[in-house]
Amino acid sequence: MTQTQPVDVVIVGAGLCGLMAGAVLAERGLRVVLLDKGRSVGGRLATRRIGAGCADHGAQFFTVRSPIFGAWVERWRASGIVYPWATGWSDGSLAATTPDGHPRYAVRGGMNALAKHLAAQVAEQGAEILTDVRVTAVAPQGDGWLLTSHDGRRFTVAAVVMTAPAPQTLALLDAGATPLTANDRASLARICYAPSLCGLYVVEGEVQLPAPGAVQRPAADFAWIADNRRKGISPDATVITVHASSEWSAAHYDAPDAELNAAFERALRPWLAADAWIAEEQIKRWRYAAPTVLHPERLLRIEAHAPLLLGGDAFGASRVEGAALSGLAMGSEMM
Ligand SMILES: Cc1cc2nc3c(=O)[nH]c(=O)nc-3n(C[C@H](O)[C@H](O)[C@H](O)COP(=O)(O)OP(=O)(O)OC[C@H]3O[C@@H](n4cnc5c(N)ncnc54)[C@H](O)[C@@H]3O)c2cc1C
Repeated sequence: MTQTQPVDVVIVGAGLCGLMAGAVLAERGLRVVLLDKGRSVGGRLATRRIGAGCADHGAQFFTVRSPIFGAWVERWRASGIVYPWATGWSDGSLAATTPDGHPRYAVRGGMNALAKHLAAQVAEQGAEILTDVRVTAVAPQGDGWLLTSHDGRRFTVAAVVMTAPAPQTLALLDAGATPLTANDRASLARICYAPSLCGLYVVEGEVQLPAPGAVQRPAADFAWIADNRRKGISPDATVITVHASSEWSAAHYDAPDAELNAAFERALRPWLAADAWIAEEQIKRWRYAAPTVLHPERLLRIEAHAPLLLGGDAFGASRVEGAALSGLAMGSEMM
């Protein structure tokens, strides 16, 4: 299958970074196609239904440090999409939580709803978003690029924006035999990520996490435990998200689900009332959860015969805000 309409820019990845880049480009009238291998948009802005409830299993909340991202968040706040959830977390000890003045924002309906909101906006501006399309190679072709996908589609395009985690982006360029300068290859190869293991638990009975329904202990094996009902995204069931630290996740990444669930449930047990029980459980593995070595700039412009920009949450700054800023920077740069 081949595209029928001419396209100016293909964006690989419809996570937050790709969607923000798409928003800038589509608003300025470029013909944009976003391709994502997932069943839905959002990438690590991931919300899953489990039992009668709902849980965020990727990003849990986000903060705002830059005025540029702040302006977007203010608009999302004004239209009721995001809301401040907390200004700090308990570490689970008896010590009071000390608010640090930074609101932690959550998304009504779960983090993935923000991606869906952005996707609807980008589509309204004329961009096409195709999910369930795994790009398999990005290759030079004429004075532009040829992208191929797992289901035999071919996209011929003048310019490409790539937002998948850096090792995956590098693999796509190598699969297309795209020549890279030694500098560009080294810049990409330097970027590293830590994995994350996540457990989701539907609990029948009382959960006694401190206000506002979460504990964060960066130094512990189980660094984050949060109640999605108290967060406001799971009104019909109590669903708890547990995240292991990156060290524990790396050490246990390939352990069987049963073994992981047993360890996660031991970490959760102290927060459950004596008669509470776990009705359903799920494990999710994130191989590229959080960058540990970043590229210093918000994007990398590959030295090539046609525009090719690389970005994502490993470019400039990490986390949700970093991904958004990288996407915005790539959108502007591409113009
Ligand atoms: C467990 C976990 C907890 C987190 N907690 C927080 C938090 O509390 N606060 C915070 O700010 N951040 C958090 N983060 C980080 C945050 O989720 C990310 O920084 C941000 O969502 C990254 O967005 P992105 O668009 O750069 O990448 P992604 O969301 O990974 O998007 C990349 C997209 O590319 C697609 N893709 C990849 N390869 C291909 C291909 N070959 N073809 C087509 N599509 C492809 C993927 O499907 C994906 O949708 C967390 C992440 C994880 C995993």
